[in-house]
Amino acid sequence: MRTSDKEGRLCGIQAIIFDFDGTLAVLNIDFSQMRERVFDLIRQFGVSETFVMERYLLEIIDEVFPILREHNPLSAKEFYEKAHQVLQDVEMRAAREGKLIEGGVKTLNTLRQRGMKVGIITRNCEEAVRKVFPEIDDYCDAFISRDYVGNVKPHPDHLNSMLEALKVSGKDSVMVGDHLIDIQAGKTAGMVTVGVLTGRIKRGEFEEAGADYVLRDATEICDLVKE
Ligand SMILES: [Mg+2]
Repeated sequence: MRTSDKEGRLCGIQAIIFDFDGTLAVLNIDFSQMRERVFDLIRQFGVSETFVMERYLLEIIDEVFPILREHNPLSAKEFYEKAHQVLQDVEMRAAREGKLIEGGVKTLNTLRQRGMKVGIITRNCEEAVRKVFPEIDDYCDAFISRDYVGNVKPHPDHLNSMLEALKVSGKDSVMVGDHLIDIQAGKTAGMVTVGVLTGRIKRGEFEEAGADYVLRDATEICDLVKE
């Protein structure tokens, strides 16, 4: 059962789940180039942009795929592979320059020494994450990139797979991330949600999205969660 003490620190937390890019790592993924290249492909494959309703690229690719498949399954497969190759190219380029945030590894260690489980979930590909953090398996209890889940966050499947892997319930866990997707996913799973200001999202936007806490960076989680 989670409660908070006199100082407002959270008690009874069993697991902390972190996003990766912008939360545990500094990664400058060129999302506008990624988007441009995927939309170029969509046009090349003859699909009108007006069919695209989704907001994020992974979901857009999944949206265009069945439209193409209806007329030509082979071209649908080719589109899907090429689009994912674009994502991976841009992610790997960023990973080569990427690094963990200062104090990130120490934070993961501290939490685990306090008996908490640590999970890392990301919409990024596994290869890019391992390029930045090769020892990731030594510092967390579970790591689930987009390669291992059919539906990525904010879809509930991603966090639910993590909670299952860690054998904890949402109400005893905290979701930490730099994007509103992380807050949305955490809230759906009934978790305490924490926004960090190391990405592009500002404090007010996190508050508006209903984040329970907003921290300067992920290392501050150790002060929020009681030993
Ligand atoms: Mg992020």
